[in-house]
Amino acid sequence: MNNKPMLNAYPDSMGTKLSDLVSILSKEALRDTFSSFYILPSIYHSDLDRGFSVIDYELEETLADRSDLEELNRLGIDLKLDFILNHASAQSPQFTDLVLHGEQSEYRDFFINWNDFWNGYGSMTEDGYIQPEQKYLENMFFRKPGLPILMVQFPDGKKVPYWNTFYQEEHYPRYLGQMDLNIRSPKVWEFYKETLRKIASYGAEIVRLDAFAYAPKAPGQKNFLNEPGTWQLLSQIQELADPYHLTLLPEIHASYEEQIYKKISDKGYMTYDFFLPGLVIDAIENKRSTYLAAWARELVENNIRVVNMLGCHDGIPLLDLKGILPEGDIQNLIELIVDRGGLVKNLHGQKNIYYQVNATYFSALGESEQKLLMARAIQLFMPGKPQIWYLDLFAGKNDCEAVRKAGEAGHKEINRTNLTVEQVEEACRKEVVKKQIEMIRFRNTCRAFDEGAKISIEEKDAVLRIIWQKDTYGAELTVDFLNQSYEIREM
Ligand code: BGC
Repeated sequence: MNNKPMLNAYPDSMGTKLSDLVSILSKEALRDTFSSFYILPSIYHSDLDRGFSVIDYELEETLADRSDLEELNRLGIDLKLDFILNHASAQSPQFTDLVLHGEQSEYRDFFINWNDFWNGYGSMTEDGYIQPEQKYLENMFFRKPGLPILMVQFPDGKKVPYWNTFYQEEHYPRYLGQMDLNIRSPKVWEFYKETLRKIASYGAEIVRLDAFAYAPKAPGQKNFLNEPGTWQLLSQIQELADPYHLTLLPEIHASYEEQIYKKISDKGYMTYDFFLPGLVIDAIENKRSTYLAAWARELVENNIRVVNMLGCHDGIPLLDLKGILPEGDIQNLIELIVDRGGLVKNLHGQKNIYYQVNATYFSALGESEQKLLMARAIQLFMPGKPQIWYLDLFAGKNDCEAVRKAGEAGHKEINRTNLTVEQVEEACRKEVVKKQIEMIRFRNTCRAFDEGAKISIEEKDAVLRIIWQKDTYGAELTVDFLNQSYEIREM
């Protein structure tokens, strides 16, 4: 797997379908800029959550087909794709079969029947679901208010609760929801095997394991990163992925102080650098490089293999910074980004459980082009494989109108604006875009960044220097945070 720049977008983020995006990538302005592309999961048949509720893993024919993927391959661009192993859509063939045949369904155990799961650990309510005893609930991590269940009606009229960690919408008799899979069911493992085969057949090099830590569940546990269950799950998935030479990228948000990234890395997996987005804003806004430099050194010294980013399809992760930045500074960062139009979604309405701030990265930086360029330069020189959110590349601003239109739970739309081909072409003529493309192309083609390069980090008086060296090639970035300037040198 290479560590070269990776574009990140939905299939319809630039133009109306993947073929538009591919043709943009083949034009002069963006040619030779990216070696990889993380295509979000709306490339599959899906309903809710812009792709993260997968019906099945066939390509969504209104957005993409195999010839687009072959064309990307011809352009020298490999793929990162999602494997959403914690849940499947309520409209998936398996859940549809369950609702249709109830107890008789061959997928009876494919999903998690809440009452079977909690049998003996709580009491049955009048509404037909078991209310677990408080001592079990206290240990659990919830994503939303109330119990994570969706009540479905079986053919005999009986209502049965199914575990549903993420989104749901009820439109009886049609259910919409991301239904948790039961990893104790052999049928789920057949499904996993088949899914990895299919994802590999699309040309994936990296497989992102979406929200994997929610999958192992047991009464009395947190039901988020249960140990050792989660690690067993990962190694079983690795075994299934090995025949296809896939690199797994487990996705998890946790605070720095929990050191989960380190555990993942020590077990030999690649991991996400979810600290970088916040650390870069801290360095630029507070004109200091201490925390950022310490993190860069830790990555190098411990040989932690990461995919890093500035913005992405989710918000800017701030929960993650706990333990790497002082508490008060995290709070100040949140306030700053919110003052600049960002939105904070506290987890299920509880204050002070900061999770993500939804904003474009450009707006989070006060829409300063110089700051965005500094941020991009830093990202490209940080150890790891840089993933670049298309809207950051085009210096996109907070899209408040899209949030308003999307209504409840539409906060993420602030940073997901689809651009037309004309808008992309126009954006490519702007200085802030041209300069970013030039830097990304340099990162993509300069031999100093090749596998096995030596990375040195120097830091003094708010000046950060990062140097990459491979054989006789060298590349150096110097950022002066006090003067808000940066310089890239080829050596
Ligand atoms: C994705 C989110 C998604 C969730 C549920 C996360 O890890 O990044 O966008 O809503 O998983 O699939």
